[in-house]
Amino acid sequence: MTLMKPSEKEEEYFARQMFDKKQKIEQEKQKHLAETELRKAKELHHMKCPKCGMNLVEIDYKSIKVDRCSACEGVWLDAGELGQVVNLEKGALDKLFSVFAK
Ligand SMILES: [Zn+2]
Repeated sequence: MTLMKPSEKEEEYFARQMFDKKQKIEQEKQKHLAETELRKAKELHHMKCPKCGMNLVEIDYKSIKVDRCSACEGVWLDAGELGQVVNLEKGALDKLFSVFAK
């Protein structure tokens, strides 16, 4: 646990609060979606970039699956993968992104 200034702690608290609130709203919305609508949404958005809607390309690097947008070059990670990426040894992250280099 690192020591934080009070203002940083406050920011963390408010970010957490905002996340909880937004997640709750989204989960409420999902509850009201019918089974077919959920399936339709998945088909429509699966492997599409959340930012620009273009197709994502998935690569597998050191058993971390990284999705990269073919258009805007955004990089997306699944749950838990951010931790794996953070724990990569020095230089491995550069190698990961060099996979995408043209
Ligand atoms: Zn994109």
